[in-house]
Amino acid sequence: MFQKILIANRGEIALRILRAAKELGIQTVAVHSTADADAMHVRLADESVCIGPPASRDSYLNIHQIVAACEITGADAVHPGYGFLAENAKFADILAAHNITFIGPSGDHIRVMGDKIEAKRTAKRLGIPVVPGSDGAVSEEGEAKRIAAEIGYPVIIKASAGGGGRGMKVARSEADLEMALATARTEAGAAFGDDAVYIEKYLQKPRHIEVQIFGDGAGKGVHLGERDCSLQRRHQKVWEEANSPALNAEERSRIGDICAKAVADLGYSGAGTIEFLYEDGEFYFIEMNTRLQVEHTITEAITGIDLVHEQIRVASGGGLSVTQDDVRFQGHAIECRINAEDPRTFAPSPGTITHFHTPGGLGIRVDSGVYSGYRIPPYYDSLIGKLIVHGRNRVECMMRLRRALNEFVVDGIKTTLPLFQDLVGNQDIANGDYDIHWLEKHLAAHD
Ligand code: ADP
Repeated sequence: MFQKILIANRGEIALRILRAAKELGIQTVAVHSTADADAMHVRLADESVCIGPPASRDSYLNIHQIVAACEITGADAVHPGYGFLAENAKFADILAAHNITFIGPSGDHIRVMGDKIEAKRTAKRLGIPVVPGSDGAVSEEGEAKRIAAEIGYPVIIKASAGGGGRGMKVARSEADLEMALATARTEAGAAFGDDAVYIEKYLQKPRHIEVQIFGDGAGKGVHLGERDCSLQRRHQKVWEEANSPALNAEERSRIGDICAKAVADLGYSGAGTIEFLYEDGEFYFIEMNTRLQVEHTITEAITGIDLVHEQIRVASGGGLSVTQDDVRFQGHAIECRINAEDPRTFAPSPGTITHFHTPGGLGIRVDSGVYSGYRIPPYYDSLIGKLIVHGRNRVECMMRLRRALNEFVVDGIKTTLPLFQDLVGNQDIANGDYDIHWLEKHLAAHD
């Protein structure tokens, strides 16, 4: 087992990882920018190292500073959290070259899944259902027209290097295609330095359903069920549930088993998420994230498995703590992402939190790095906390969520809490009846 883990992240996820390491009796090192000197994860870590000025590229993305911090403190492993360097294959390779364990998959697996064309090809080879579309990159208009006619309009043009919902264009008919192809390529080139794009069928009313997997790196894989993250705004997840209100047990184990077998065959190590669009009973692979996700907490709630413990265990060579038969799903869980944002315009709302009071009681978990008197720096993303609610079934979970939201107090800044008050009282949400467009339509109707 590791002696000392350096946590290459900030905010609630740094605290989340720190808690897991403490439980396992492992020493912790926090790294932070000058803007985060008084952050909670810095206060609670055994040691801390300042790695640079506020801008992420000079601190949390600065590989040299982080490797230097490992060497100064003698950390033998790094947990990257999510975002920042979590899916940076070069970072994983550099750590390996320094004999420091990256708590995540190999650089090669990160690389394959980071290139969407390569990822889709790999998924297909492993027997994962994919969205019908081009086999690889498409640059020429004639070829694009032929493929689009074959799969049928509407189609979507996506950047191979894409991420965060950027570099995508929908073409509803052949007349749109030329323009969509040209715009997508220009945008992809400008945003990612790589103008490779590909075409796939545009699904009209899908749900976003993702499967949590774990591989031991030696040919074993398990799945921990799925999460439904269809409630999104601008491709950002807002509310997540496990399990999905749209799936039955048979569909769950069918797609779960396909994913578990695929990661086993790949020789994948650690936690990963295979993301799908789901429509009319069919799953369509869109991408794989080779890291822990923000919403891993709801999977923990329904399986009782600590995903960060499991990541640390697998990375240290201890293998998986569970077989597929050991994994049991209990009840229902919902996560609300609480952002420091205006709940109507979603404009960031940094500033000082004058009062912070979190709900408690059975089935309630709050993961947050903030506290009363904390000043939110303006340099990073606006997530200030996650409210995770568990109940024996979805109805109980929703009742408890409504109660917990009423107890939650964040004064001094604007937050997205009022949005959740609205959602928890909505009939479509109560029925679990929503797709990936539902939230934006709902917000537009109430503007
Ligand atoms: P990114 O990595 O940029 O987030 P994804 O491939 O995960 O890109 O897609 C992001 C979102 O774009 C999806 O959650 C979905 O809302 C939409 N999308 C992507 N592909 C399709 C498709 N084939 N049909 C319909 N919507 C799509």
